[in-house]
Amino acid sequence: MKFTDLGINDQILKALEDEGYTHPTPIQAEAIPILLDRKDLLGCAQTGTGKTAAFTIPILQHLYNSKNDHKGQRKVRALIVTPTRELAIQIAQNITDYGKYTGITNVVIFGGVKQRSQTDELRRGTDILVATPGRLLDLISQGFISLKYIKYFVLDEADQMLDMGFIHDIKKIIAKLPEKRQSLFFSATMPSSIIDLSSKILGNYQKVTIKPKQATAEKVKQAIYFVSKPNKSKLLIHLINENPNASVLVFSRTKHGADKIVKILGKSQIKSAAIHGNKSQGARQRALGNFKDGKLNVLIATDIAARGIDVEDLSLVVNYDLPNIPETYVHRIGRTGRAKASGIALSFCNIEEKAYLKDIQKLINQQIPVISEHPFVDDEIESAPIPKGPSKNQKKKIKHHSAQKPRGGETKNPNQSRRNASKKRRRY
Ligand code: AMP
Repeated sequence: MKFTDLGINDQILKALEDEGYTHPTPIQAEAIPILLDRKDLLGCAQTGTGKTAAFTIPILQHLYNSKNDHKGQRKVRALIVTPTRELAIQIAQNITDYGKYTGITNVVIFGGVKQRSQTDELRRGTDILVATPGRLLDLISQGFISLKYIKYFVLDEADQMLDMGFIHDIKKIIAKLPEKRQSLFFSATMPSSIIDLSSKILGNYQKVTIKPKQATAEKVKQAIYFVSKPNKSKLLIHLINENPNASVLVFSRTKHGADKIVKILGKSQIKSAAIHGNKSQGARQRALGNFKDGKLNVLIATDIAARGIDVEDLSLVVNYDLPNIPETYVHRIGRTGRAKASGIALSFCNIEEKAYLKDIQKLINQQIPVISEHPFVDDEIESAPIPKGPSKNQKKKIKHHSAQKPRGGETKNPNQSRRNASKKRRRY
C-alpha cells in the first residue's frame, strides 16, 4: 500500500514526499481511512510506530476541507493533549512539516517556561493547539483559550498521562469539550483504568492495535551484559570508547543516577548531559537539541523525560538500569529503530535485575542474546537463579515504603506514582 491509496489530498501528499515517506506504517495504513471517515479511534500503539502522522494527517485534511469560518482570528478547532513538553514540541513540528502546503496553523503550549510567548501566539489565533494538560488548563482559566470550537480531540500517550497524575486534569479538559467532535485516544498499554477513561472520551469507536513487539522489539538488535552494579559505569565507558562516533542514549532509572553517570563519564573525558524532571526546561531543550544535532554524542535520560523523543540516527540505546516495568523496556529500545530503521539496544543486568529481565523477555516473547565477551563479565550473575519476582512481597515492601515517603519525580513503582498523583501534579 502507498500513501496515494489512502485518499490523502495532494497538499499533504507533497509534504509527505518531501519527508521521504513513501509507504504508510501499519498504524497509518489502518488508522488514516478510519479517521478520514470521521470515526472515533482507540489506538493501542506507542511512539516510534508512525502514530503522530497517523492522527495528524486526517486532522490536517479535515481542517483544510472545512475553512476556519469564524471571521477574524482563527479559532482552535483541533486539540492534541500529550503528557510531556518534548512530545508536544515534536508533535507540533510534525504538524508543521506535514501541513506546510495546507495553510493550517498550529501553536504548542507547555509548562515550565514563561507563558508570554505562548499567549502572544494564541492571541493571533490558530487552527490546531498542541498542549500539555497543566498549561492548557492554566491558560483556559486565564481566558486565553476557548475549547468551544473543537471538532477534533486527540489524547496521546494516555497511560503515561495517568502515571504522571494527570487524570483530574484530563477529566476537566474533557468536560470543556463540545459534545459533537471526533475523538482519538492513544495509549501504549490498555489496563482497565485506560479503557475506563477511553469510554469517557470516545463515542462509537474503531480500535487499532499495533503490538510493541511488531513495532520495535523485532527489529532492534538487542543484547544483555551481565555486570555487577559497581562495574556498570566502567562497562559504559568501555562501550562508548569502542564506538566513538555513535550517538548513545543511556537510560537511568533515577534522576540522581542520571546525574551521577554524567559525572563519572566526565572524569573519563566523555562529554554527556542528562535530561530529567529536575532540569529546567531550557537545560532539557539544550541537551536534547545538541544531541539531535550531533553536537553531543551521549545523553543520559530518565524514562519520563525521554519518552517519545525522536532522534534521527540514534545508533545505540543503553539500559544502564533495567526497568522494572517490562513495557518501559519496549519504549526505551523504541528510541532507536524508529519507523523503518534498525537499531541496537544493550542492557546491563545485575543480580537484582534478573527478575526484570525475565519479565521483559516474556513480554517481547524473545530471549535476548547475552554478550559474555567483555572485560567486566560476571559469571556469577549469569549462572545465578532468577530471583522470583517482582514478588508479592517485594511489591508490598515498595508500597509500604512509598506510603511513608511520597515524593515527586521518577519513581520505581507505577502504582506509587498513581497514588501520589492526586496529591500533587508532578513536573517532568
Ligand atoms: P512517531 O511514532 O510518530 O513518533 O514516528 C516515528 C518516526 O517515524 C518519526 O521519525 C517519523 O518521522 C517517522 N515516520 C513516520 N511515518 C513514516 C513513514 N510512513 N515512513 C517513514 N518514516 C515515517
